[in-house]
Amino acid sequence: MNEGIGVNSFSKIVRALKDISSIDNPPSASSRYSLFPRLAEHIATLFKEGRLFDIIPRLELELKIVRKYNPTVRPALDPYVSTQIGIFSANFNAWEIGSLLNYPECCIHSFAEDVRYGLDAKHLKELKRVRGKVFVATAGFIPCSLSCEKSRKRGLTAFMDKASVRRLRLLEKDLAAALPHFHPEYQGHYYEIRPA
Ligand SMILES: [Zn+2]
Repeated sequence: MNEGIGVNSFSKIVRALKDISSIDNPPSASSRYSLFPRLAEHIATLFKEGRLFDIIPRLELELKIVRKYNPTVRPALDPYVSTQIGIFSANFNAWEIGSLLNYPECCIHSFAEDVRYGLDAKHLKELKRVRGKVFVATAGFIPCSLSCEKSRKRGLTAFMDKASVRRLRLLEKDLAAALPHFHPEYQGHYYEIRPA
């Protein structure tokens, strides 16, 4: 089976984090990752201090499960990993976090400048025009529009039929069972699925 865009999208983040884990001089991470310099240096420092020792095995396990389902939309990064590397902290802006997570510029811009938290009235208006398909996005990702082409191509959003959505629900269950964590808002929640 060929690897789809969901797997590609997920493995791109895993590759970047593995690469950062091998950087010996943390300040050099900021020039290597110029789209998220402060975050990259922060992560490199944590790796060097041995505080992210359990991150890579969890990412590899998540990637293995994602490969098994080969979805067109990637799931959210393991919430434990996101917490440990600082994605949920207020220390890094939307541009840095969005760049690490490979979000398109148009979507980061709409999230950061228009202050959009979750799918809002504008998205719901778009959703009303959709017939017979379910809208799916990577949990935590807010597209500029449900039909943003760049999001679709990066494996972050899709319109799916119900059978594909059922497979995503199974993928979510597998991930929740394999990678337990304590983040209250993301228990078993790796996708935004509308209508549910
Ligand atoms: Zn966009």
